[in-house]
Amino acid sequence: MAERRLQVTSRLGLHARAAANLVRVASKFESSLTLQRLDGSAEADAKSILSILTLAASRGTDLKIIAHGIDEQQALDAIVGLFSRDFDETEKYDVEQPSPATQELRCKGLGVSDGIVLGRVLRLQEGTRGVYRAVIAEADLERERHRFRVAVRLSRRQLEAIKARAEKELGRGHAYIFDAHLLFLEDAKLTRDVEDYIVRERANAEWAAKVVGDRLLSIYTQINDDYLRERGSDIEDVIQRLLANLTGEGPKYPNLSEDSVIVSPDLLPSTVAELNLKHVKAIATDAGGWTSHMAIIARGLGLTAVVGLRDFYQRTRTGDQILVDARRGEVILHPTASTIEQYQATAESAGPSLREDKTVESGPVETQDGVLISLRANVELPTEFQAVRDFGACGVGLFRSEFLLSRPGLMSSEEQQYGAYKALVDVAGEHGAIVRLFDVGGEVGSELKERERNPALGLRAVRFSLRNKAAMRTQVRAILRAAAAGPLSLVIPMVADVADVRRAKQVITEEVARLDAEQKQFSEVQIGAMIEVPSAVLTAETIAKEVDFFELGTNDLVQYTLAVDRGNDKVSYWFRTLHPAVLYGINRTLLAAREANIPVIVCGEMASTPAYAVLLIGLGAIDLSMTPAMIPRVRTVVSRINADEAREVALKCLQAATADDVEELVRNEFRTRWPELFPLNTLPKPPQIS
Ligand code: PEP
Ligand code: MG
Repeated sequence: MAERRLQVTSRLGLHARAAANLVRVASKFESSLTLQRLDGSAEADAKSILSILTLAASRGTDLKIIAHGIDEQQALDAIVGLFSRDFDETEKYDVEQPSPATQELRCKGLGVSDGIVLGRVLRLQEGTRGVYRAVIAEADLERERHRFRVAVRLSRRQLEAIKARAEKELGRGHAYIFDAHLLFLEDAKLTRDVEDYIVRERANAEWAAKVVGDRLLSIYTQINDDYLRERGSDIEDVIQRLLANLTGEGPKYPNLSEDSVIVSPDLLPSTVAELNLKHVKAIATDAGGWTSHMAIIARGLGLTAVVGLRDFYQRTRTGDQILVDARRGEVILHPTASTIEQYQATAESAGPSLREDKTVESGPVETQDGVLISLRANVELPTEFQAVRDFGACGVGLFRSEFLLSRPGLMSSEEQQYGAYKALVDVAGEHGAIVRLFDVGGEVGSELKERERNPALGLRAVRFSLRNKAAMRTQVRAILRAAAAGPLSLVIPMVADVADVRRAKQVITEEVARLDAEQKQFSEVQIGAMIEVPSAVLTAETIAKEVDFFELGTNDLVQYTLAVDRGNDKVSYWFRTLHPAVLYGINRTLLAAREANIPVIVCGEMASTPAYAVLLIGLGAIDLSMTPAMIPRVRTVVSRINADEAREVALKCLQAATADDVEELVRNEFRTRWPELFPLNTLPKPPQIS
C-alpha cells in the first residue's frame, strides 16, 4: 500500500469535468485507489465519478490518495501528475463562472398554509410525470434488471450523440460535460446500487433509479461549496434521462434531500399529494391562490406554503438556502445569518403551529344563543383520515375522491376504491361521510385528460363522469358497496342544473339495480348536488326538489360568479369571497334548501376561515365542512358568538354594493361586537391591485 498527499489547485475545484479526467486516468490501473480528504471528513473511490464528486473538493482542499495493488506506484505517479497539471483542463473554452456572490432576496406572496421553514430549494417544473412504485414478482426481477440495463445503453447512445453534436457546434470545451454524464451512467455506484435495489426491494426499475438518484442528489444539496453543489444538476440530468428512457415519457421528478422546499412556477395538486413528507418541508410557487387545490392539499397535509410569488422560480437554483414564512407570506432566498437568527426566535415565540393545535372536543358546537352548528372535515387523501378524529370533526363533509386518481392506474379499480371508501366510513363514524364523484378536470386530474383550452369551463366534474360512464359506474358501485358498512352519501360536483342531476341519478339507479341483481352487499345512499356555479344557484329551487342535500362549494362559486380563475395570482385581487354577488348566491341557495327542507353543507374554504364562518352562520348555515386543522379554531369562535348577532351583520352585508364595502363592514362590526375573538389580523384586509 502506498499513499501521497495532494492539493486541489485548479480554480473550479474537483468538479465534474476534472473528476471525469481523474476517473479516466485511475481506471487504467489495476490497484484500488482511494481519495481521502486530509481532514478525514470524506473518502471516495477514485474510479467512480459520483464518489469523487461527493468529496466536494473545492480549490485549496488537501487530499490524500491511497493506492493498493501491483501497479500502485505507477498509479500514484499518474494521479499526482494529473493534479499538478490541474486535471489537464488546458483547452481554450469558456469556463463556467461560479454563481455570483449570493445576496439575500425577499419576495412577497400569499401564505396559504401556516409555518416558518428553513430549507434548501428543490426546483420543480411541472408538466411531467411522477415515478411510481410497483412490486415485482421474484420471477420477473431479472427482466427488470435487464430493462434497466437497456435504458442505460439507450441513454449512453443518446449522450454520445449529444456530445458529438456539442463538439461540432459548441467546441470541445462544452462537450466535455457529456463525458462526465457518460461516466455517471457507467459508474457502478449508480448502476450497481440500482440493480441491487431492484432485487433487494423487489422494486420496478424506475422506482429503484429514482430512489438511488435521490440519495445521490441529497448528498449534493448538502455540499458546502456553491459551485460544486450546483453540479448536482448534472446528476439530476442523467437520472432524468434514465427515467425518461425507462418510462418512455420524459419525466422529471423531485429529488429530495432532508429539508427540501419545492420551488415551482406552479404545482399540480396531485404532485403535492404525492410528495414525500419526510423530506419536503414547504412549497413556494409563482402561481396559486388561497383556494387553489394545491393550497387546499398543502393545508390538509400541514405543509407550509407560500404562493403567488410571480417570478421567484427563475431566481432560484436547486440547493440554495431558503426561508419560507407563510405567516408573513414571504420567502427569503439566501437568508443572512442574522435573518435566520431573527426567524428562529420568531418561530419559537410564535408557539405551536395550527397543526399542533389539536383538541379532543367533538360533536356539534353551540352558539351562545343555542344554535347547533356541525363542523365536518374536508378530506383529500387517505393519509388525512386520522385528522378527522384528531380534530373532533362531525364526520367527513367532503371527500375529494379524485385524489384517489392522482396516481394514474392506481386506486381506480372498484376494489381499490371500495377499500378507500370503506376506510372513510370507518373513520367518519356515526356522522358519516360524503364522497364527491370525481371532480376531474380543471386543476385536478388534468393529467388524465387531454389538455383543454379552458379547463375550468371544460369537461370537468359531472361532465367528465357523464362522458366517461365506465369510470363513473365503477365509482358509484364502490360507493354503494362501501355504504353497507356505515353512513355514506354521494354528492355530484358542479351540476349546472337539474338535468345534470337527473343524468347522474340515472346512472346511480342503474348501478343499484345491477348490484341488486348480482346479489352484492350494498346500501342505497343519499344523493346531493354541489351548488357552485351561478346557473345552479339561479335554479336551486328546482334542483332542491330532486336531491337529498346541497353542498355549497364557495371556492368555485366565487370563481364562476366573479369570473376569476381561483389559481391565477394575477387576478387574485378580484377573487373576493365577500363580494355581495357571492353572498346573494349563498343566501339564495340556503333559502331554496330551507324551502325544500333539505340540509346544506358549506364546504368551500370560506367555512375554514373563522370570520367568514360567522358570516355563513349569519346567513343561516348550520353545517360547515373545512380543513380538519381549522376545526378547533372555528369551534372556539362559534361557541362564543350569538347567531342572532351574526344574522344582523350578514343582513347588512347583503345590502352592501361592493366587496370593499362588505369587508369594511365586517371589520367594523366584528371588531366592535367580538373584539377578543377577532383581532385585526384575523379580519379581511383591504387588498391592493399589484
Ligand atoms: C368548492 O368549490 O368550494 C369546493 C368545495 O370544491 P373544490 O374546492 O374541490 O372545487
Ligand atoms: Mg368546487
